[in-house]
Amino acid sequence: MLLELVVGAMMTGRPVVTLSDGLTSISAGMISRLPLLVMRGCELSAYMYVWNHFRLLELPWDSAWTWWLTFLGVDFCYYWVHRFAHEVAILWAAHQVHHSSEYYNLTTALRQSLTQQFTSWIFYLPMALAVPPSVFAVHIQLNLLYQFWIHTELIRDLGPLEWVFNTPKHHRVHHGRNLYCIDKNYGGILIVWDRLFGTFAAESDKVIYGLVFPIKTFEILHVQLHYYVYLWKKSKFYKALSNKVSTFIKGPSWKPGKPRLGDHVDNPKVTGKEVPHDPNWPLSFQVYVTFHFLLVLWTYHELFESKMMLSQLTLLGMTTYILLTLTSLGFIIEQRPSSAFLEAIRCVIMVTLLRFNYLRSPIPLLSVPTEAFVSLSLLYWALQSFSQLFSIKKKAD
Ligand SMILES: [Zn+2]
Ligand SMILES: [Zn+2]
Repeated sequence: MLLELVVGAMMTGRPVVTLSDGLTSISAGMISRLPLLVMRGCELSAYMYVWNHFRLLELPWDSAWTWWLTFLGVDFCYYWVHRFAHEVAILWAAHQVHHSSEYYNLTTALRQSLTQQFTSWIFYLPMALAVPPSVFAVHIQLNLLYQFWIHTELIRDLGPLEWVFNTPKHHRVHHGRNLYCIDKNYGGILIVWDRLFGTFAAESDKVIYGLVFPIKTFEILHVQLHYYVYLWKKSKFYKALSNKVSTFIKGPSWKPGKPRLGDHVDNPKVTGKEVPHDPNWPLSFQVYVTFHFLLVLWTYHELFESKMMLSQLTLLGMTTYILLTLTSLGFIIEQRPSSAFLEAIRCVIMVTLLRFNYLRSPIPLLSVPTEAFVSLSLLYWALQSFSQLFSIKKKAD
């Protein structure tokens, strides 16, 4: 990501990542892994269960044939996981997170859904009838890892590789909200599935990234969950039960009387002149948010390192602290009036956690400066909250 930032600045003369959007994407990536603190991954657990109880044959784990077959199998299943995630509204509610950035860079790859993992495992289960879990486990990881590097605008065209592989060029189309981009290029590693099943589109007009209706927020839980609320409200709007059900299981653009996936012509027209949501916020806050983000990233890392030694209660408490921190930093980016109060409370919790050694400084030598920095942060936000309260009271008088 840092390399992309440097090379991007040299190639285009401007930063290809913004702090607000980049941090929101990395935050989403962090949140998507939080369930792994308290439970095993759904994908492997369900897979192991089917393998143990229902397998029909055992492909030899050490055969090259098994290796290549699993590579194709996982990528084929991924195509369908991904296609369903776009074509079924309740699954889209989870997957829209990945598409919610109006930028396209390597941080966008990390913008992952918290809830998608609870349904995606179903699609891989047929493989458990024959493919050993050890081989499957490797390929599901490789498939995910491969998809990191394709989230960049810096690689334009890869010649003959474009015929077979999913590349930055093809995946840019997938992230576009232009009419020609909607519901296209679902492939993971290979693009041949899209060519085969008729969902391929080549990059042509300038791609405008993000959701058809951009959410324009850095509030991380809103990014993750807003679409569920929207779907619930949409379903309540309809009287007929069939329409209520269709709201959840048909395409996100579906309306009564329209085909299953809705009519994309109804969506807002893309002119090519759209600019991503990038609010102005003071440099001092940018430095502040960066420091606190690095601190919470360290806490997150340490939590995963030591999760086996911690009680479920501690893990839940620390998870809440991380969510609160990422939410509060998002509020500061948006400069919401409530951010002072929320951040003051968070700093109180942070000081307490530091005191009781639940939090530690990344470098032991810096533990005193870190504590001083957090205490000063608390003082600043407490004063801000007081002055806000005072001005509200004055207005009321
Ligand atoms: Zn997608
Ligand atoms: Zn993507």
